[in-house]
Amino acid sequence: LNRSLDGLGTTIFAEMSALAAATGAINLGQGFPDTDGPEAVREAAVRALRDGRGNQYPPGAGVPELRAAICAHQRRFYGLEFDPDTEVLVTAGATEGIAAAMLALLEPGDEVIAFEPFYDSYAASIAMAGGVRVPLALRAPDFRPDLDALRAAITRRTRLLLLNSPHNPTGTVLTRDELTAIAALAVERDLLVVTDEVYEHLVFDDGAHIPLISLPGMRDRTVSISSAGKTFSFTGWKVGWVTGSAELVSAVRTTKQFLTYVASGPFQYAVAEALALPDAYYAAFRDDLQTKRDLLTAGLTAAGFEVYRPQGTYFITTDIAPLGETDALTFCRTLPQRSGVVAVPNSVFYDHPTAGRTQVRFAFCKREDVLKEAASRLRTTF
Ligand code: GLN
Repeated sequence: LNRSLDGLGTTIFAEMSALAAATGAINLGQGFPDTDGPEAVREAAVRALRDGRGNQYPPGAGVPELRAAICAHQRRFYGLEFDPDTEVLVTAGATEGIAAAMLALLEPGDEVIAFEPFYDSYAASIAMAGGVRVPLALRAPDFRPDLDALRAAITRRTRLLLLNSPHNPTGTVLTRDELTAIAALAVERDLLVVTDEVYEHLVFDDGAHIPLISLPGMRDRTVSISSAGKTFSFTGWKVGWVTGSAELVSAVRTTKQFLTYVASGPFQYAVAEALALPDAYYAAFRDDLQTKRDLLTAGLTAAGFEVYRPQGTYFITTDIAPLGETDALTFCRTLPQRSGVVAVPNSVFYDHPTAGRTQVRFAFCKREDVLKEAASRLRTTF
């Protein structure tokens, strides 16, 4: 294996989902819902398959129906205008969008600043592009970005910021003030920003998702990435997209075409219909997850975990130190046997070897009875 990929062996999600399958434990590890997305959208996929739409290679940039729907979505929720022919690219999930962006925008040795803990594909994508990651810690209990540290971390070699909000695994949702400060720095230091917005519709309470690309100076220096997996509960379809200036999107299209060329033909048509669902769908989806967040927050608190209540995403980060536990990875490897529950250690999402050592993440995109049973098992164990 290429030495720059040392330590990236098997993703924690594969390891923990395999453990869930082997033990029959409740899987609150890997982030996927246990209920599929809307029936009408599934029907749209069946229709596309049956009618022969997308069964052969779709256009490289994505089918026109989906590119138009992505533009309509960006306009409806954020007032953003994109040209469907030059400023939109459909990818095999956000994961491919991120990888293609790194490959397109980095030269060997370029530095990429990302807030840790970060989603595990970031380290791999940066490494595969020959980049150097520069992690900046989000610290418990509130996991806010340290903007002075960000300023101090920017060097002559910094090429881009890789920003995720709402943030997996901490649930942090960046505020307008934080985004404004980040945008000002990007403009001042002439940086590109790649934004991972896959949880854009999972922001709770009075919060709101603000795309960085909507802020002054950012329209031509941001590659904005999202996906249908989370918003519509079809993580297996792997339909994602990239929006941004024609110049940046064209660069990402160049690398993307040599990764998969194209993917998910019939599902692209279905996702076009999903994106057009009425506002009520999006509101109900968020409300449902907010209820589940509150349910699992209460359950984990009752079991003795320190719980960091997330503002967004479908993950809760906890600390296991109050349970007398000292190592998240060991804890997660033994939890299925001890409690019949699977979770994910946040420690693997940090570069810093001891950071997050007692942080454990639980996914709450599961049926309420499942969450209640998991909480009850944990309460019995601890
Ligand atoms: N994003 C999901 C998570 O954080 C899982 C993605 C994956 O399995 N690669 O759990």
